[in-house]
Amino acid sequence: MRNFVIMNISLKSPFNDNVEKPYILAGPCSAESRSQVMDTARQLADGGIKIFRAGVWKPRTRPGGFEGVGLPALDWLAEVKATTGMAVATEVATAAHSDACIRAGIDILWIGARTSANPFAVQEIADELSRHSDKPALLVKNPVSPDLNLWIGAIQRLYEAGAERIGAVHRGFSSYGEPLYRNRPHWSIPFELRRCVPGITMLCDPSHIAGRRDLVEEVARKAMAMDFDGLIIESHCHPAEALSDSAQQLTPAELLDMLTRLGRHTTGTSDAELDGMRERIDRLDESLLSILASRMELSEEIGRYKKIHGMSAVQPHRYNALMDTRVSEGERIGLSPDFLRQILSAIHEESVKRQLAILSGKTQE
Ligand code: PEP
Ligand code: MN
Repeated sequence: MRNFVIMNISLKSPFNDNVEKPYILAGPCSAESRSQVMDTARQLADGGIKIFRAGVWKPRTRPGGFEGVGLPALDWLAEVKATTGMAVATEVATAAHSDACIRAGIDILWIGARTSANPFAVQEIADELSRHSDKPALLVKNPVSPDLNLWIGAIQRLYEAGAERIGAVHRGFSSYGEPLYRNRPHWSIPFELRRCVPGITMLCDPSHIAGRRDLVEEVARKAMAMDFDGLIIESHCHPAEALSDSAQQLTPAELLDMLTRLGRHTTGTSDAELDGMRERIDRLDESLLSILASRMELSEEIGRYKKIHGMSAVQPHRYNALMDTRVSEGERIGLSPDFLRQILSAIHEESVKRQLAILSGKTQE
C-alpha cells in the first residue's frame, strides 16, 4: 500500500450531541411515496432511532431502474423531521441537489460512492456549499473503486469549502468476481482513512457491503468489533416491494432486533486478559518486521549477485515455484491461500523493486 499523507485538519462530529454512539442512521434505500416514508420513519422513531435516511435522487448503475422521486420527497423528509424529531439525511450528487436540500432543512447530506469517485462532481457540491453560511453535516461514502486518495480528496474538497462536520462511510468497493458480498469490504482501507484523517467519524454501511438481508448482521457485527462509530442501514416497511435494493433491506422490526443483538456484543473491550494478548501480538509483529527486514537484505544481496552475473531481476519459474510451495506449506498450517498470495506477492514486489534499483545502479552496492 502507498504511504498516505496524514491530513492536519480538525473535523467536528456530523451528529448532534444528543445522539449517542454507536450512531445509527436507518431508513429506506429510496423515498418512494409519502406513506412508505412516514410508515417506515414512525416505526424506526418508536424504536429509538434518531437519524432517518432515504434516497431522493438515486444513481442507478443501469438505466431503467427507479431513479428516485426527486424534489417532492424532500417535503416527506421535512415531515419526518417535524413529526418524529429525527434528523434526516439524503444523498446529493449535484450542486442543485445540495441547494434544494439545504433549503428544505435536510440535516445531513451524503455524497454517494459514484459521486465521491468523481472530483468534478465533488468540487461542484463543495462550491455550492461554500455559498451557504449555514452548512449541513456531510457524510462521504468511499468511492466505488478501492482508492483511498480519491476518498481523502473528496473529504478535503468539502473541508476546504468550509464544511467541518464531515464523517466517512465505508460501503465496500466494487470488484469483479467477489464471491460473497455485493461490495468487497477491504477493511484495511477505512482503517487507513482513520489514520490519515485523525478524528473523523467513521460509519459502516453493512447494507451495501452485504447486498443481502441475511448477511447484513455479520457485516454490522464486524464493523462494531472494529470500533466503527456507527452504522447506516437500509430499512423499508415492506422490503419485498422496495423499488431499489429490495434484497438487502430489513423491516424496521428486523433492524431493531438486530441492533439489540449487536448491543450484547459491543461491550467490554478492555481488560487484563485482552491487554496480555495484545502484548503478545505486539511481540509477534516485532518478530515479523525483523524477519521481513532480513529477507529484504538477502534479496538485495541476491540483486548484487545477479548484477555481477548479468542476470535479470525476475526469473518467472522461480516466482511460480516460490508461490506454489509457500501457498501449500501455508495451507498445511492453517493459512488461507488468498491471504498468502496477497502477502507473498507484496513481498515479492518489494524484493524485485530493490533488486531493480541495484541492477539499474540507483542503489549503493
Ligand atoms: C445508498 O445509500 O442508497 C446508495 C446509493 O449508496 P452507495 O452510494 O453507497 O451505493
Ligand atoms: Mn441502496
